[in-house]
Amino acid sequence: MLLKEMINRYGFRHWYEGELIRAFGYVALGIVLFIFGASALEIFWETKEDYWLWSALKLIGAFGGVILGGLSWIRFSRLIAMAEILANQAVCPSCKAYGRLTVADERSDPETLDRILQCRCNKCHNDWQIFF
Ligand SMILES: [Zn+2]
Repeated sequence: MLLKEMINRYGFRHWYEGELIRAFGYVALGIVLFIFGASALEIFWETKEDYWLWSALKLIGAFGGVILGGLSWIRFSRLIAMAEILANQAVCPSCKAYGRLTVADERSDPETLDRILQCRCNKCHNDWQIFF
């Protein structure tokens, strides 16, 4: 679903709230995965297995946990940055209403490659653009 459709369906404030919840869900997932990876690495170093497969699984678990935890952190950073960039521009320049907007169009600027949301204020019907 396009960003335009999501904002128009749920409203900007609910979309923003959902993005924050998703972002901090990724933080929680990343912390759990990092703890899992660190625990697997500690078990790998403390115990010596005769069977090589268990050692390999512990090592794969350690690296997998740390790598997936890092990817969760990157996903969190991207979600939170996108939400903040849009939230900082979601104020109507005319009446200063926050988040009361309808997105009329979503497109890319061919020169700067920025994405643009063409917005209309639900309160005073002023038009403005959000760049991200
Ligand atoms: Zn307005």
